[in-house]
Amino acid sequence: MIARWRIIMNNQHSTQFRLIDEAWKILSDDNLRKKYDAEFRASELHSIHPVQEEISLSDTSYNSKLDQYEKDCRCGGKYILSRTEISEELLLVDCDNCSLSTIIDCAICDKNKDVNS
Ligand SMILES: [Zn+2]
Repeated sequence: MIARWRIIMNNQHSTQFRLIDEAWKILSDDNLRKKYDAEFRASELHSIHPVQEEISLSDTSYNSKLDQYEKDCRCGGKYILSRTEISEELLLVDCDNCSLSTIIDCAICDKNKDVNS
């Protein structure tokens, strides 16, 4: 009975050790940490809002008259992202007509800006 309990405790310890080891690897690696933060932020956004999809800026169309990026929603409304609103890597944009949201990946937006400049 004690031996069995020890095995269970050892398994718990090795699981905890693995988690700590994994967390340490993520925290000590800039790229892994950024990826983890982005994934965490995406899952956070998904849990708060009914997100229809995740898109990149290249999936939207740029409206030069209004200086904003637009994407049609399935309801007939529009997701509108003003160019001045682009600040974070992932932005949550609400439809102007219904309760749906879309996540726009602005890491790709930044790359586009580099290409254009
Ligand atoms: Zn909509």
